Amino acid sequence: MPNAILVTKRMFPETVTFLQQHAEVDYEATDDGLTSAELIARARGKRAIVSQFTDSLSKEVIAQMDGLGMIAHVGVGYDNIDIPAATARGILVSNTPGVLDDTTADFAFALMLAAARRVSEADAFVRSGKWQRWGIELMIGLDIHHRTLGILGMGRIGQAVARRAAGFSMRVLYHNRTRLTPEIENQLQATWVGKDELLRESDFLSIHVPLNATTRHSIGEAELRSMKPTAILVNTARGPVIEEAALAQALSERWIAAAGLDVFEREPQIHPALLECTNAVLTPHIGSASIETRRKITMIAAENALAALAGRRPPNLVNPEVWDSWASRQAAAK
Ligand code: NAP
Repeated sequence: MPNAILVTKRMFPETVTFLQQHAEVDYEATDDGLTSAELIARARGKRAIVSQFTDSLSKEVIAQMDGLGMIAHVGVGYDNIDIPAATARGILVSNTPGVLDDTTADFAFALMLAAARRVSEADAFVRSGKWQRWGIELMIGLDIHHRTLGILGMGRIGQAVARRAAGFSMRVLYHNRTRLTPEIENQLQATWVGKDELLRESDFLSIHVPLNATTRHSIGEAELRSMKPTAILVNTARGPVIEEAALAQALSERWIAAAGLDVFEREPQIHPALLECTNAVLTPHIGSASIETRRKITMIAAENALAALAGRRPPNLVNPEVWDSWASRQAAAK
């Protein structure tokens, strides 16, 4: 089966049809997907897998995927894949950057607005039948316009968030390890600051860093205590960037005012204390979940997989250093 592909979870039918037009496809058409043991078994004899972020492609799993040439990941964050392990075994890995920036940035704003203006709480209040009269302080919240927005991780999505902030007349501060060029800072009307200043100054702090060893738990008790008591924290990046227990304490003891969270440390489990916080808006990892964008990311992953199988360099390689040796192995095998 030289062109066999494993699709590890349910996806859009047109993407599966597209793959089937070019390759033999073993399709796991469920939302549950596969356990590690099942992944290993089903990857046997496949040249590529089209994976999603709930697939745990650890070093141990990858070590047992003999003959696999490519992991085409659906999505931009690939913290579920041990990239050094894949690289060491000469496996190409691709992701789908760029196409989901606007959709995810829209959602970061949805969470900022929902948390600041208590949209979920107000909706639950109306549905519960508790609304008896209008009052001057009923569901009173915080303004977003003309406030300071801090962006931790000013990459593709962070920059899309900054562009939206202009429409709300916000002052934008950001922190990255590498400062943007003056031209881009100027276009975005954004100012680089150190992380401590970002935490201290932000009325809204929106997280857009990838999950890696440098960012895991980079927002913990000390960071939360350094924020304003009126601040709102929004996370559409990855849950483990924030220490969830510390955040639950920060919200219940009002070290900060509120949070909008799309991602969690142990999805789909949520820290029980967080579930008690009425000042947190919680959503089930749907930052990129618009019909159009989710369709696009599955098609791009499919295109990456098929490119490799056809001996063409996949456009979105995460480990491009593998490509030269991969291509020569492919040519020699013909
Ligand atoms: P990106 O373009 O790579 O941007 C990430 C930014 O974070 C870069 O500017 C990087 O700059 C910065 N960064 C990395 N490590 C840092 C650190 N230790 N301290 C400060 N800044 C750091 O990534 P993206 O496409 O914007 O995506 C960001 C993340 O969003 C993804 O990795 C994914 O996990 C998440 N995401 C979630 C959803 C969802 O559904 N909720 C949807 C899409 C994406 P430097 O390297 O210069 O520091």
